[in-house]
Amino acid sequence: MKYVVLIGDGMSDYPLDELGGKTPLQIANIPNIDRLTLTGRAGLLENVPRNLEPASDVANMSIFGYDPQKYYSGRGPLEAGSMGVKMLEDDVAFRCNLITEENGKIADFTAGHISSKEAAIIIEDLNKHFKEGTFYPGISYRHLFMSNDKNLVNLRTTPPHDIVGEDIENYTNWEEDNCLGSNNDNKGSIAIKNIMMESQKILKDHPINQERIAKEQNPANMIWLWGQGLKPKMPNFKDVYGLTGSVITGVDLLKGLGVFTGLNNIDVPGATGYFDTDYKAKGKYASNALENNDIIFIHVEAPDEAGHSGDINEKIRAIENIDKYILGQVLDNINSYDDYKIAILPDHPTPIDVRTHTRDAVPLAIYSTTDDADNAKYYDEFEVLNGSLGLDKGHNLINKLIN
Ligand SMILES: [Zn+2]
Repeated sequence: MKYVVLIGDGMSDYPLDELGGKTPLQIANIPNIDRLTLTGRAGLLENVPRNLEPASDVANMSIFGYDPQKYYSGRGPLEAGSMGVKMLEDDVAFRCNLITEENGKIADFTAGHISSKEAAIIIEDLNKHFKEGTFYPGISYRHLFMSNDKNLVNLRTTPPHDIVGEDIENYTNWEEDNCLGSNNDNKGSIAIKNIMMESQKILKDHPINQERIAKEQNPANMIWLWGQGLKPKMPNFKDVYGLTGSVITGVDLLKGLGVFTGLNNIDVPGATGYFDTDYKAKGKYASNALENNDIIFIHVEAPDEAGHSGDINEKIRAIENIDKYILGQVLDNINSYDDYKIAILPDHPTPIDVRTHTRDAVPLAIYSTTDDADNAKYYDEFEVLNGSLGLDKGHNLINKLIN
């Protein structure tokens, strides 16, 4: 038996006036996904536990078969894992965004999707300046900051994509946060705030930003630290589920899930984690990986990015590309195996109107060569309610697939 889990990040949505009361999934032309739903089973999956934020890492941890309430320790450590940055017991890994600040507000949480090459130069200069920890360069606007002050896990940091257009001061007023425990000393939180504020002085006239401004691109004129945590303690996927597996994604935190669960991360040239990701390459690598793996997780970030930008057409196009180029190729190749199962789902919705993640349950379709179809006729947020899978917790998905 071969298993494929296809994750369209943030692809579910709410009905939109612009689409005549339909969702992007309902408008998108997705013949492969619809056919698998028609001949398979459908239902809803709750990937986000009530006490956690609907972040991609939380939701995808569920999909990978791990209860986030038990294993989630923050986004930073997952990204550290993906970058091959070793963490010691007391290390706290922060996600570090390069952002665009304007008039004391977050204008762009991606600094205009700055290139990795430009970002690496900026990160190197930050390391020359700050001695409170170490910065590690990642992809585009997504980087890492490592501190060895374990008390910082309690700092109330905020994901920058949730507060675009809002005052920075409102989300860095940590004077009340006691980050050093019993001695009532806020040294840790003050240090983090200072790093964020001082980064503005260093980056304001940085040559990379002068070039970006000249090209009318958003400058990376501030860093934003968030999503911090200690190293997670997750058991090996093969030990838990008895399957060998690989992950295909353009996003660091998903690769981190792969690292900490002992799944193999397959690097796909051109997998960018953005609209321009190479769908065909992802489909090809996934198809090739079937031979040496029991299960392949394929994650595509593009619909989520479209949701964050409020771009309806881009979201529809991303969903159609997943259907055509990724699932299409996988189906062409998986036919050579007698038995297989394919699960299709988002991690969480990223509705166009909300422009950030919501915690709603997500539509799930599972096609199996060994199971009968249920009454769901096609794939969208509402039709799956006619399926037989009901509503289940996300971390039960893998068991549901296997059994
Ligand atoms: Zn997501």
